[in-house]
Amino acid sequence: MRKQYPRKVIMGIDVGGTKIAAALVSSGKLFTKIYTSKTPHGKKILKVVDSFYKQFSGKYLISGIGISTAGMVSDDGRIVGSTGNIPGWQGIKVKETLQKKYRLPIVVENDANSAAYAEYHIGSAKGANPLLMITLGTGVGGGVVVNGRLVRGAHFAGGEIGHIKLGYTKQRWCTCSRYDCFEAYASGNGLLALIRHYFPDRYKNISTRKLFEFAKSKNKNQILAVRAVEDWHYFIALGICNLVQVIDPEKVILSGGLSQEVNINLLRKQLGTLLLPALSKNAIIQKSVLGNDAGLIGAALLASQSL
Ligand SMILES: [Zn+2]
Repeated sequence: MRKQYPRKVIMGIDVGGTKIAAALVSSGKLFTKIYTSKTPHGKKILKVVDSFYKQFSGKYLISGIGISTAGMVSDDGRIVGSTGNIPGWQGIKVKETLQKKYRLPIVVENDANSAAYAEYHIGSAKGANPLLMITLGTGVGGGVVVNGRLVRGAHFAGGEIGHIKLGYTKQRWCTCSRYDCFEAYASGNGLLALIRHYFPDRYKNISTRKLFEFAKSKNKNQILAVRAVEDWHYFIALGICNLVQVIDPEKVILSGGLSQEVNINLLRKQLGTLLLPALSKNAIIQKSVLGNDAGLIGAALLASQSL
Protein backbone atom coordinates (compact mmCIF):
# COMPACT_ATOMS: atom_id res chain seq x y z
CA MET A 1 0.00 0.00 0.00
CA ARG A 2 1.34 3.46 -0.88
CA LYS A 3 1.89 5.63 2.18
CA GLN A 4 0.48 9.15 2.44
CA TYR A 5 2.85 11.74 3.88
CA PRO A 6 1.14 14.71 5.50
CA ARG A 7 3.61 16.73 7.51
CA LYS A 8 3.92 16.24 11.26
CA VAL A 9 1.29 13.62 11.86
CA ILE A 10 1.43 12.58 15.49
CA MET A 11 -0.17 9.58 17.13
CA GLY A 12 -2.14 10.85 20.12
CA ILE A 13 -3.06 8.35 22.83
CA ASP A 14 -5.22 8.91 25.87
CA VAL A 15 -4.87 6.32 28.64
CA GLY A 16 -7.92 6.51 30.89
CA GLY A 17 -9.16 4.35 33.74
CA THR A 18 -11.57 2.38 31.54
CA LYS A 19 -10.46 2.91 27.95
CA ILE A 20 -7.52 3.89 25.80
CA ALA A 21 -8.29 6.23 22.90
CA ALA A 22 -6.03 6.77 19.89
CA ALA A 23 -6.06 8.95 16.78
CA LEU A 24 -3.65 10.65 14.44
CA VAL A 25 -3.40 14.39 14.93
CA SER A 26 -1.99 17.01 12.59
CA SER A 27 -1.57 20.70 13.56
CA GLY A 28 -3.82 20.21 16.58
CA LYS A 29 -6.67 18.71 14.55
CA LEU A 30 -7.87 15.14 14.44
CA PHE A 31 -6.53 13.56 11.26
CA THR A 32 -8.33 10.24 11.71
CA LYS A 33 -11.30 9.13 13.73
CA ILE A 34 -10.73 8.11 17.35
CA TYR A 35 -10.30 4.39 17.98
CA THR A 36 -10.71 2.93 21.45
CA SER A 37 -9.73 -0.18 23.35
CA LYS A 38 -10.36 -1.35 26.93
CA THR A 39 -7.58 -0.37 29.37
CA PRO A 40 -5.64 -3.45 30.52
CA HIS A 41 -3.37 -3.55 33.59
CA GLY A 42 0.20 -2.25 33.76
CA LYS A 43 2.63 -3.00 30.95
CA LYS A 44 -0.09 -4.49 28.74
CA ILE A 45 -1.11 -0.89 28.03
CA LEU A 46 2.05 -0.60 25.92
CA LYS A 47 0.86 -3.57 23.85
CA VAL A 48 -2.36 -1.68 23.12
CA VAL A 49 -0.26 1.36 22.11
CA ASP A 50 1.71 -0.93 19.78
CA SER A 51 -1.44 -2.31 18.16
CA PHE A 52 -2.59 1.25 17.44
CA TYR A 53 0.87 2.11 16.10
CA LYS A 54 0.80 -0.86 13.74
CA GLN A 55 -2.71 0.04 12.61
CA PHE A 56 -1.78 3.66 11.77
CA SER A 57 1.78 3.17 10.54
CA GLY A 58 0.57 0.80 7.84
CA LYS A 59 -1.01 3.79 6.16
CA TYR A 60 0.71 6.95 7.43
CA LEU A 61 4.17 8.13 8.36
CA ILE A 62 4.05 8.85 12.11
CA SER A 63 6.44 11.63 13.24
CA GLY A 64 5.98 11.29 16.99
CA ILE A 65 3.79 9.94 19.76
CA GLY A 66 2.03 11.95 22.47
CA ILE A 67 0.59 10.05 25.41
CA SER A 68 -1.89 11.60 27.78
CA THR A 69 -2.46 9.47 30.86
CA ALA A 70 -4.17 9.36 34.20
CA GLY A 71 -1.66 9.71 37.03
CA MET A 72 1.38 11.84 37.73
CA VAL A 73 4.20 11.70 35.18
CA SER A 74 7.88 12.51 35.82
CA ASP A 75 9.91 14.72 33.48
CA ASP A 76 11.49 11.59 31.99
CA GLY A 77 8.08 10.11 31.15
CA ARG A 78 7.72 7.62 34.01
CA ILE A 79 4.38 7.09 35.75
CA VAL A 80 4.99 8.17 39.34
CA GLY A 81 1.67 8.29 41.14
CA SER A 82 -2.10 8.60 41.52
CA THR A 83 -3.04 5.67 39.33
CA GLY A 84 -5.33 3.74 41.65
CA ASN A 85 -7.74 3.06 38.80
CA ILE A 86 -5.06 1.53 36.55
CA PRO A 87 -3.33 -1.26 38.52
CA GLY A 88 0.32 -1.86 37.68
CA TRP A 89 0.79 1.35 35.67
CA GLN A 90 2.77 3.19 38.35
CA GLY A 91 6.54 2.89 37.91
CA ILE A 92 6.42 2.06 34.19
CA LYS A 93 9.04 3.94 32.15
CA VAL A 94 6.68 4.76 29.31
CA LYS A 95 8.79 7.30 27.43
CA GLU A 96 12.05 5.32 27.61
CA THR A 97 10.37 2.07 26.51
CA LEU A 98 8.53 3.63 23.57
CA GLN A 99 11.54 5.68 22.46
CA LYS A 100 13.70 2.55 22.29
CA LYS A 101 11.01 0.69 20.37
CA TYR A 102 9.97 3.30 17.81
CA ARG A 103 12.95 5.73 17.69
CA LEU A 104 10.54 8.65 17.56
CA PRO A 105 10.01 11.75 19.73
CA ILE A 106 7.75 10.62 22.58
CA VAL A 107 5.95 12.86 25.09
CA VAL A 108 4.10 11.48 28.11
CA GLU A 109 1.98 13.91 30.11
CA ASN A 110 -0.75 13.81 32.74
CA ASP A 111 -4.19 13.84 31.08
CA ALA A 112 -5.52 17.01 32.73
CA ASN A 113 -2.27 18.82 31.93
CA SER A 114 -2.49 17.66 28.30
CA ALA A 115 -6.08 18.88 28.10
CA ALA A 116 -5.11 22.27 29.55
CA TYR A 117 -2.34 22.55 26.95
CA ALA A 118 -4.86 21.84 24.17
CA GLU A 119 -7.29 24.44 25.56
CA TYR A 120 -4.45 26.98 25.54
CA HIS A 121 -3.45 26.28 21.93
CA ILE A 122 -6.67 25.53 20.10
CA GLY A 123 -9.55 25.54 22.60
CA SER A 124 -11.78 27.95 24.53
CA ALA A 125 -8.82 29.71 26.12
CA LYS A 126 -6.51 30.24 23.17
CA GLY A 127 -3.57 32.34 24.36
CA ALA A 128 -5.04 33.02 27.83
CA ASN A 129 -2.24 33.82 30.25
CA PRO A 130 -2.32 32.40 32.84
CA LEU A 131 -4.90 29.72 32.12
CA LEU A 132 -6.56 27.57 34.77
CA MET A 133 -8.45 24.49 33.64
CA ILE A 134 -10.63 22.44 35.96
CA THR A 135 -12.04 19.03 35.04
CA LEU A 136 -15.19 17.94 36.81
CA GLY A 137 -16.05 14.27 36.52
CA THR A 138 -15.79 11.17 38.67
CA GLY A 139 -12.85 13.03 40.21
CA VAL A 140 -11.58 16.61 39.98
CA GLY A 141 -8.38 17.46 38.14
CA GLY A 142 -6.84 20.42 36.47
CA GLY A 143 -3.99 22.10 34.72
CA VAL A 144 -2.30 25.47 34.80
CA VAL A 145 -0.57 27.08 31.81
CA VAL A 146 1.66 30.12 32.40
CA ASN A 147 3.35 31.90 29.49
CA GLY A 148 2.36 29.00 27.25
CA ARG A 149 4.04 26.38 29.45
CA LEU A 150 2.44 23.82 31.71
CA VAL A 151 3.10 24.24 35.41
CA ARG A 152 4.40 20.71 36.09
CA GLY A 153 5.81 21.50 39.54
CA ALA A 154 9.02 20.51 41.29
CA HIS A 155 7.65 17.02 42.03
CA PHE A 156 5.40 16.53 38.97
CA ALA A 157 2.24 17.35 40.95
CA GLY A 158 1.56 20.81 39.47
CA GLY A 159 -2.13 21.18 38.69
CA GLU A 160 -3.27 18.43 41.10
CA ILE A 161 -6.00 20.80 42.19
CA GLY A 162 -8.50 18.11 43.23
CA HIS A 163 -6.77 17.82 46.59
CA ILE A 164 -6.71 21.41 47.79
CA LYS A 165 -8.75 21.55 51.02
CA LEU A 166 -12.19 23.10 51.22
CA GLY A 167 -12.87 22.56 54.90
CA TYR A 168 -11.71 21.49 58.32
CA THR A 169 -14.78 19.56 59.45
CA LYS A 170 -13.60 16.09 58.36
CA GLN A 171 -16.95 15.48 56.73
CA ARG A 172 -15.97 14.25 53.32
CA TRP A 173 -13.54 11.43 52.72
CA CYS A 174 -11.51 11.75 49.52
CA THR A 175 -10.13 9.09 47.16
CA CYS A 176 -6.63 10.21 48.30
CA SER A 177 -7.41 8.92 51.83
CA ARG A 178 -7.68 12.38 53.34
CA TYR A 179 -10.61 14.57 54.36
CA ASP A 180 -12.27 17.58 52.78
CA CYS A 181 -10.51 17.80 49.42
CA PHE A 182 -12.04 19.87 46.58
CA GLU A 183 -12.63 16.56 44.77
CA ALA A 184 -14.66 15.14 47.66
CA TYR A 185 -17.12 18.03 47.22
CA ALA A 186 -17.14 18.99 43.55
CA SER A 187 -16.84 15.58 41.82
CA GLY A 188 -19.57 13.10 40.91
CA ASN A 189 -18.91 11.46 44.28
CA GLY A 190 -19.39 14.85 45.95
CA LEU A 191 -22.76 15.16 44.23
CA LEU A 192 -23.75 11.70 45.48
CA ALA A 193 -22.92 12.83 49.03
CA LEU A 194 -25.27 15.82 48.55
CA ILE A 195 -27.99 13.49 47.28
CA ARG A 196 -27.54 11.37 50.43
CA HIS A 197 -27.83 14.53 52.53
CA TYR A 198 -30.96 15.94 50.92
CA PHE A 199 -32.73 12.66 50.16
CA PRO A 200 -31.66 10.37 53.05
CA ASP A 201 -34.46 7.85 52.46
CA ARG A 202 -34.23 7.58 48.71
CA TYR A 203 -30.65 8.36 47.77
CA LYS A 204 -30.02 4.90 46.36
CA ASN A 205 -32.59 5.55 43.64
CA ILE A 206 -31.38 9.02 42.66
CA SER A 207 -28.47 9.28 40.23
CA THR A 208 -26.64 12.53 39.59
CA ARG A 209 -28.41 12.72 36.21
CA LYS A 210 -31.77 12.38 37.93
CA LEU A 211 -30.84 15.08 40.45
CA PHE A 212 -30.23 17.58 37.64
CA GLU A 213 -33.52 16.55 36.01
CA PHE A 214 -35.38 17.13 39.30
CA ALA A 215 -33.76 20.56 39.66
CA LYS A 216 -34.80 21.64 36.16
CA SER A 217 -38.49 20.71 36.06
CA LYS A 218 -41.52 21.22 38.31
CA ASN A 219 -41.90 18.16 40.52
CA LYS A 220 -42.13 17.32 44.23
CA ASN A 221 -38.35 16.94 44.51
CA GLN A 222 -37.47 20.21 42.84
CA ILE A 223 -36.85 22.39 45.91
CA LEU A 224 -34.43 19.96 47.54
CA ALA A 225 -32.76 19.16 44.21
CA VAL A 226 -32.19 22.87 43.52
CA ARG A 227 -30.59 23.23 46.97
CA ALA A 228 -28.28 20.30 46.29
CA VAL A 229 -27.28 21.70 42.89
CA GLU A 230 -26.70 25.17 44.40
CA ASP A 231 -24.52 23.66 47.16
CA TRP A 232 -22.52 21.84 44.48
CA HIS A 233 -21.98 25.12 42.61
CA TYR A 234 -20.89 26.76 45.86
CA PHE A 235 -18.26 24.06 46.44
CA ILE A 236 -16.96 24.53 42.89
CA ALA A 237 -16.89 28.31 43.49
CA LEU A 238 -14.89 27.79 46.73
CA GLY A 239 -12.28 25.73 44.90
CA ILE A 240 -12.06 28.18 42.02
CA CYS A 241 -11.79 31.10 44.48
CA ASN A 242 -8.77 29.56 46.24
CA LEU A 243 -7.03 28.91 42.94
CA VAL A 244 -7.90 32.27 41.38
CA GLN A 245 -6.53 34.12 44.43
CA VAL A 246 -3.19 32.41 43.82
CA ILE A 247 -2.97 32.39 40.02
CA ASP A 248 -5.16 35.33 38.91
CA PRO A 249 -5.91 33.57 35.61
CA GLU A 250 -7.03 35.34 32.47
CA LYS A 251 -9.51 32.53 31.94
CA VAL A 252 -10.91 29.58 33.87
CA ILE A 253 -12.01 26.68 31.67
CA LEU A 254 -14.34 23.99 32.95
CA SER A 255 -14.15 20.60 31.29
CA GLY A 256 -15.12 17.00 32.06
CA GLY A 257 -18.52 15.33 31.86
CA LEU A 258 -20.06 17.18 34.81
CA SER A 259 -19.08 20.62 33.50
CA GLN A 260 -22.07 20.39 31.16
CA GLU A 261 -24.32 20.71 34.22
CA VAL A 262 -22.62 23.85 35.54
CA ASN A 263 -24.69 27.03 35.40
CA ILE A 264 -22.03 29.63 34.63
CA ASN A 265 -24.19 32.57 35.78
CA LEU A 266 -24.89 30.96 39.16
CA LEU A 267 -21.21 30.07 39.55
CA ARG A 268 -20.12 33.64 38.77
CA LYS A 269 -22.63 35.01 41.27
CA GLN A 270 -21.36 32.73 44.02
CA LEU A 271 -17.76 33.43 43.09
CA GLY A 272 -18.53 37.15 43.33
CA THR A 273 -19.30 36.76 47.03
CA LEU A 274 -16.00 34.95 47.66
CA LEU A 275 -13.32 36.66 45.59
CA LEU A 276 -11.71 40.02 46.16
CA PRO A 277 -13.66 42.52 44.03
CA ALA A 278 -10.73 43.22 41.69
CA LEU A 279 -10.45 39.52 40.88
CA SER A 280 -14.16 38.79 40.69
CA LYS A 281 -14.65 41.54 38.10
CA ASN A 282 -12.12 39.96 35.79
CA ALA A 283 -12.67 36.24 36.33
CA ILE A 284 -13.81 34.78 33.02
CA ILE A 285 -15.23 31.29 33.31
CA GLN A 286 -16.05 29.27 30.21
CA LYS A 287 -16.79 25.68 29.31
CA SER A 288 -14.39 23.66 27.19
CA VAL A 289 -15.18 23.30 23.51
CA LEU A 290 -12.78 20.38 23.01
CA GLY A 291 -14.53 17.93 25.34
CA ASN A 292 -13.10 14.44 25.72
CA ASP A 293 -10.63 14.80 22.86
CA ALA A 294 -8.61 17.50 24.63
CA GLY A 295 -6.14 15.13 26.39
CA LEU A 296 -5.28 13.21 23.25
CA ILE A 297 -4.92 16.37 21.14
CA GLY A 298 -2.90 18.14 23.86
CA ALA A 299 -0.44 15.25 24.13
CA ALA A 300 -0.05 15.25 20.34
CA LEU A 301 0.56 19.01 20.38
CA LEU A 302 3.21 18.56 23.07
CA ALA A 303 4.89 15.85 20.99
CA SER A 304 4.82 18.03 17.87
CA GLN A 305 6.71 20.73 19.83
CA SER A 306 9.58 18.31 20.27
CA LEU A 307 9.98 17.50 16.55
ZN1 LIG B 1 -7.96 14.24 48.10
